[in-house]
Amino acid sequence: MTTTSLTPTGVDALIIDYNGVIGKQPTSLMWTRLADIAEWPNRQLDSFQDACWAPRNAYDAGELSDLAYWSKVLGHHPGPRWLRTLRAADTAMWIRTDERVLDILRRARATALPMVLLSNAPHFLSDVLDATDWRRELMTDALYSARLGLCKPDRAVYEHALAATGIADPARVLFIDDRADNCQAAAELGLRALHYTGQPADLEEQLLPADPTAVFCPSAARRGASR
Ligand SMILES: [Mg+2]
Repeated sequence: MTTTSLTPTGVDALIIDYNGVIGKQPTSLMWTRLADIAEWPNRQLDSFQDACWAPRNAYDAGELSDLAYWSKVLGHHPGPRWLRTLRAADTAMWIRTDERVLDILRRARATALPMVLLSNAPHFLSDVLDATDWRRELMTDALYSARLGLCKPDRAVYEHALAATGIADPARVLFIDDRADNCQAAAELGLRALHYTGQPADLEEQLLPADPTAVFCPSAARRGASR
């Protein structure tokens, strides 16, 4: 088996996190609005966020329904209308995207680079992300924790994502995530890992060839790789 990479960047596929890379973090105003909707006492954001995060992993893993999650956050069951309002406000916090990142991904995708989205997200948010234009335009596949029944950094999650890239050798696949523990788990499987810290230039360096004329041509690259 040849070890020659098919692309000028040496990356033959990408596995990319959503929130904190493509997706922007919620603003304080958004958290305050959600706390207001939750009727949280005295707008105490610290305690509200703690209450939201405590059951979040189970929610992301698909172990809790929307009702079960918000019942844990609030300490009581919200009615159906209140639940829908909470879920809509929560989802709205996580769907804003960084156009700088999407622009780089579009340019990388133009080189035919396979891209797989890998996100820890509950079912409802997964469905919303799946329906976005950028997801349909850019991603060859999208894996969500709620559908897998597992969250990053579980090793099996990365095995599913690697299989979805269609690339057998993990050393040719770049994993990008804003959490160090997720990157560490990916590296343990042999994936190349980039811990993203909010600098789009880091993505550009990894995903786009330094020579802009070196546009990836799959058939030509395969001919070159077979030599
Ligand atoms: Mg993230």
